[in-house]
Amino acid sequence: MNPIYNFKGQVALVTGAAKGMGLATARAFAASGAAVVLADLDGSLADREAKRITGEGGIAMGFACDVAAEAQVAAMVDRTFAEFGRLDMAFNNAGIQVPPSDAADEPLDNYERVTAVNQRGVWACMKHELRVMREQGSGAIVNCSSLGGLVGLPERASYHGTKHAVLGMTKSAGVEYAPRGIRINAVCPGTIDTPMVQDMLADQSDAMAEIMKQQPIGRPGRADEIAAAVLWLCSPGASFVIGVGLPVDGGFTAH
Ligand code: NAD
Repeated sequence: MNPIYNFKGQVALVTGAAKGMGLATARAFAASGAAVVLADLDGSLADREAKRITGEGGIAMGFACDVAAEAQVAAMVDRTFAEFGRLDMAFNNAGIQVPPSDAADEPLDNYERVTAVNQRGVWACMKHELRVMREQGSGAIVNCSSLGGLVGLPERASYHGTKHAVLGMTKSAGVEYAPRGIRINAVCPGTIDTPMVQDMLADQSDAMAEIMKQQPIGRPGRADEIAAAVLWLCSPGASFVIGVGLPVDGGFTAH
């Protein structure tokens, strides 16, 4: 993706940044001049990707962090501030899927796992990022919801529940912090070709074709198409945009 923003002198934090749309977004921030912290459960992969960015002339640091553990999230934000002295932009992207399940049969463990990462993780990230941003009086946060935050689908109650919750937190914190110079929004990706979707569809050869019938554009999205939306939401071009859940879904939720 061509860098079209100038984020030089700014600091960005991306969770789930070792792969998929988190990695694409971290790379796009770096290409636009921001210093980037790539946080991921897989700290060594995050380190490797951060080194790749610095090798290309960018400014980046990897950090091992499980967003489900609030103490690790606090440490991630502290380390970001210690290293770079500020925090301007955050993409709270880390998330997981759990296997689809009849709502009457879903194991409690699956519900708790997906909620801990997708919902509590976003809550913890926003909480600690806002502690830095409210001191600065500026900042932009983008949370990762999903088409699953906007519609329901069979056998997806727990995942879609977490993504609806992300939009609730985005709207509430968004209105709370708008008067303090901090904008909080969310993206709602459709089906995007990332390792998550590749793993999900690995043993179902015609599943992608079925999913594409629901995505009017007729193809999966690319990770850099989510990155483009996140960077726009963080940019001055979105200065009047607060609390939205922006569908980036090839039309999935438009019909
Ligand atoms: P991915 O699985 O390809 O990459 C996710 C990254 O997050 C991985 O590097 C993984 O190690 C990391 N991660 C997982 N659990 C973590 C944790 N507890 N703490 C920190 N890092 C963790 O996923 P993706 O497809 O890029 O998805 C990113 C986000 O987008 C997720 O929140 C997902 O729910 C959401 N999403 C994805 C799609 C899609 O079609 N791919 C659609 C809608 C929403």
